[in-house]
Amino acid sequence: MNRNGRGRQFFFNPGPTNIPDRVLRAMDRATLDFLSEEFLEIHSACHEGLKRVLKTRQHLFVYAATGHGAWEAGLVNLFSPGERLLILESGYFSEDWALMARRLGLDVEVLKADWRVGVAPADLEQRLVADKGHAIRAVLVVHNETATGLANPVAEFRHAIDRAGHPALYLVDTISSLGCFDFRMDEWGVDVAVGGSQKGLMIPTGLSFSGVSEKALAASRTAKLPRHYWDWEMMQARAPQRFCGTTPVHLFFGLAESLRMIEEEGLDAIFRRHARLARATREAARVWHANGSGPELFCRAPQRLSDSVTALIMPEGHDAETFRRTAINRFNLSLGGGLGPLLGRVFRIGHMGELNEPMLLGALATVELALKESNVPHGPGGVEAAIAALANR
Ligand SMILES: *Cc1c(COP(=O)(O)O)cnc(C)c1O
Repeated sequence: MNRNGRGRQFFFNPGPTNIPDRVLRAMDRATLDFLSEEFLEIHSACHEGLKRVLKTRQHLFVYAATGHGAWEAGLVNLFSPGERLLILESGYFSEDWALMARRLGLDVEVLKADWRVGVAPADLEQRLVADKGHAIRAVLVVHNETATGLANPVAEFRHAIDRAGHPALYLVDTISSLGCFDFRMDEWGVDVAVGGSQKGLMIPTGLSFSGVSEKALAASRTAKLPRHYWDWEMMQARAPQRFCGTTPVHLFFGLAESLRMIEEEGLDAIFRRHARLARATREAARVWHANGSGPELFCRAPQRLSDSVTALIMPEGHDAETFRRTAINRFNLSLGGGLGPLLGRVFRIGHMGELNEPMLLGALATVELALKESNVPHGPGGVEAAIAALANR
């Protein structure tokens, strides 16, 4: 198909996300020597800015890798072969992180949950109380389960760990929550916060990072899993860039600009914007489902509905992938698909990063158009409901 005149691909995938023009412009420049003073100033501003977004005053390590790399970095720096981890089941991403840990030789226990609801803090507390010998070395949680649109209560889980009086390390994947809704590494006692570049941080894929507590850094000194590229001790020794290999300066140019944008808007205003757009998306979804036969919100825990992604489950007999292909191939609208066992059952609307009302309303209207085009039953008027949710706020 000739794509002239069809405009840019309309991006509502929950990662990667839209890259702001300001970030693209900031990256459109000549290379800098990564050891030059000029670059080191940018580098240091990025480290300080990322720490402010993570709300930590502790340590930060940045890798040239996708989020999977930062997942692996946390595991290999902290643990020794055969050690036990407890991961809270939330969906595809908790399963995938657990799989990685198993393949690295760790003993992974999954605290089971219905993917539509997630783990209750009391269940975590109970499991940790039962672990009298403290065999569990760490608790792992995906803050925002991008596959299901469920946001886990990271602070409540921290309180559950404290109530159990358990010394486990606390690892949290913030890849699709950071810069979208509240996360507080130090206040919530998170030992390792895993982050990535291409979601709420609005820059290209390829940078990921770990916020690391003093407690975690101390634990890393005795951990025995083999590691090289990810090794925190080696990275620290490589001052001033604290990086293994050639520093990807252009990703840092982009990051410096996105952090400037984040600070200009303000994190609290950014969170309110995400909450407002998420609410409008859910109002549209409720109307689409209103007659009981249309796509339905996948997440059934009202307090846990994510402000960065909404997942919808298709009515029986309708294939989410067929619908999604219609949206992208006919209307140039990119939506997320179902991951793992949800393939074909679920589609996802990403509403994170650089986004405003006209963009969201355009996407929601096009979802309706693609539902019609694919003969998926749905209640009429989802867009009007979204407009009502956005008006006067
Ligand atoms: C996107 C994502 C990942 C994986 O990150 P990549 O950059 O694709 O490796 C992990 N966890 C969550 C919650 C994510 O949203």
